[in-house]
Amino acid sequence: MTTTALEPAPPADLVREALRLDRAPAAEVVAWAADRFGAGLTLTSSFTDCVLLDVVTRVVPDVDVVFLDTGYHFPETLAYLDLVRDRYDLRLRVLAPETGPDDRWRTDTDACCAARKVQPLARALEGRAAWVTGLRRSETAARAMAPVLSWDERRGLVKVNPLATWTDADVAAYAAGRDLPRHPLEAAGFRSIGCWPCTRATRPGEDARAGRWPGTGKTECGLHL
Ligand code: SF4
Repeated sequence: MTTTALEPAPPADLVREALRLDRAPAAEVVAWAADRFGAGLTLTSSFTDCVLLDVVTRVVPDVDVVFLDTGYHFPETLAYLDLVRDRYDLRLRVLAPETGPDDRWRTDTDACCAARKVQPLARALEGRAAWVTGLRRSETAARAMAPVLSWDERRGLVKVNPLATWTDADVAAYAAGRDLPRHPLEAAGFRSIGCWPCTRATRPGEDARAGRWPGTGKTECGLHL
């Protein structure tokens, strides 16, 4: 894999390529990104499932993978991470926050997410050319217009969402078809899994992300603003 220098500005053809690839298979989007950015590609995973990891590593087996260890993950998530890392022999970076345990998740979730997710991600993506995420349009109303490719102005790199057009059913069918390991909490009703203080199981009929920051009105941690 060759190294590609940081893109200083949006590639001139980004919008055109985003439109061209909008309904392309996820593997084709990943192949485009690998061809364009080479070793400058970083994938972030919350290890809620391993669908994105499976899709991407089939095209780029040695992709740089980042996990943001907030310090508040469920033990089941950390166990799942170990299982998936071994299964795929991942080139994994685990980034911890620069702050120790505190009570900000009780009093100021935005500040807590900023310190434990947003700032570590900024460090993880320094000098990188493109960022691959598992963002999907069907997850929330705020994500309904998420493009397959976009320019991440805040971080100065291209954002690649190969699963942007996938529905929950698409994800489930892919996971079943590939016999992917499932997060241990999925069977207990957890469909979107973040930190334990801010995640509950969802009830029948609720959106998958209804269990995140329940009762607060908060729907995003700040990574995808
Ligand atoms: S999800 Fe909750 S515990 Fe995790 S970083 Fe955000 S506020 Fe803190």
